[in-house]
Order: sequence, then C-alpha cells, then structure tokens
Amino acid sequence: MKPIEARDVVLSFGETPALRGASVSVAPGEIVAIMGPSGSGKSTLLHCLAGILAPDAGEIHFDGRRIDNLTENERSVLRRQQFGFVFQFGQLVPELTAEENVALPLLLNGVKRAAALKQARPWFARLGLAGLERRRSGELSGGQAQRVALARGLVARPGALFADEPTGALDSLTGEQVMDLLVASAREQGTTVVLVTHDARVAAYADRQVIVRDGKVNALVRS
Ligand code: ADP
Ligand code: ADP
Repeated sequence: MKPIEARDVVLSFGETPALRGASVSVAPGEIVAIMGPSGSGKSTLLHCLAGILAPDAGEIHFDGRRIDNLTENERSVLRRQQFGFVFQFGQLVPELTAEENVALPLLLNGVKRAAALKQARPWFARLGLAGLERRRSGELSGGQAQRVALARGLVARPGALFADEPTGALDSLTGEQVMDLLVASAREQGTTVVLVTHDARVAAYADRQVIVRDGKVNALVRS
C-alpha cells in the first residue's frame, strides 16, 4: 500500500507543453483513473508518475521518497523493483510462452527461472487462463494476451501498477472482464493503481477519477 503524488509538474516536448503544473495525489492502495481529451497530457502524467519521464519542474513522490530527481539509472531500478506496467497492446514478447512472459519481471529482478515460473503459474487459474501457460503469446487472443499482460504487471507484487489504456484494444465485454480482474487482483495485493483511459465505463472501476485538461488536473470526481 504505497502513495504516489505529483506536485506542480511541468513538462514540454520541445516547444510543445504537455504538462503545465499538474498535481495529483494517489492514496496507498487507491485506484485512480486519469481521463481527459486526446492530447491533454494523460499519458505524459502517467509516465512522470511511473518514473519513465523526468519532469522539467515540479516533484514526484512515491512512498514518501522523491523520485523526479533520480538519475535515469536509478529510475530504471525503481521501475523494475517497485512498479508494474500494463499497456494498450499487451506488448508481450511473442516468441516466449505466456508463462515466460508473466515470469519476466521476476527474472529481471534476479529470481531464478524455475522459481519465477513457479510464481507465475498461479496467475493462470486466477485470471481464467488455465491451460494457456505454454502457449506462445503471439497465439493468444486479444483478451487472453491482456490478461497475461496484467499477470506480468502484478506478479512481482509491485507497490504501484500503471496502466495506459489497458482495455483500449479490446471489445467492451472483454475490456470489462480485464478491468474486473485488474481491480480484484490489485485490491487483493494492496497495489496502488493509476490508469489512463478515455472510456467512462473503464474509469468507473476506479475509486476516483481525475480529469486532465491542457496539461493540468482540473477536476476531481468521485466514481
Ligand atoms: P494524452 O495521453 O492525453 O493523449 P499525451 O500526454 O500523449 O496526451 O500528449 C500531450 C501533448 O504532448 C500532446 O500535444 C502530444 O502531441 C505531445 N507529446 C506527447 N508525447 C510526445 C513526444 N514524445 N514528443 C513530442 N510531443 C509529444
Ligand atoms: P496515447 O494513446 O497514450 O495518448 P499516443 O498514441 O498519443 O498515445 O502516443 C504514443 C506514443 O507516441 C507515446 O509514447 C507518446 O509519448 C508519443 N507521442 C505522442 N505524441 C507525439 C508527438 N507529437 N511527437 C512524437 N511522439 C509523440
């Protein structure tokens, strides 16, 4: 159960301002959805919170520690050890089996292969994927692949899970199944979740929705 906070974050891509003083606090174990129009800065805010991008100004705090001023290398270690990620298009390694994909974050953290696979396997029953452990991930359906991506995002019991349009490539029923599993698994582990979506039905799964407009978080809405 770890908190995350952005304080007055500013970030531009060259001449293009993406964030113009964005602030948001996510409580330990909270699930927050970031919504807003296309180009408003949602993904950039998520990337700052997740230690992928370093802001030009402002501060990011994770679990009481300031992370915006870490070096590139320190942020990469932080992401590997503390954060899980789910992207719009699963981004699994197609040549690896489903269970190898789930085990990847553990392998990257130095867990031995046999132990990592052992830890990965319970996720298959839990997410309705039993029997697909050895399937090449390139041969999974979209909904299956996204559930494998969810297992990979949570397998190392991260302090926070970051999801960018996690259902964006799925039909709405499959998307709702993925969201049900995401929320249930995150709650069970006490994982704090920040997700970006433009789909109000997806955002409704969150404890709280925040709206980004023109690079600022300018509305707070209870779901
Ligand atoms: P959203 O996720 O709300 O669609 P983004 O955070 O992706 O918005 O983008 C915010 C603004 O920053 C947009 O104007 C976008 O074009 C610009 N932007 C985002 N990423 C880059 C990048 N890597 N290089 C240049 N401009 C970018
Ligand atoms: P999202 O759906 O998350 O807003 P986009 O499709 O806008 O994503 O962007 C996908 C990737 O391209 C992101 O990594 C983003 O940082 C980058 N990007 C977005 N806008 C621009 C831009 N104007 N120039 C260069 N890269 C961009």
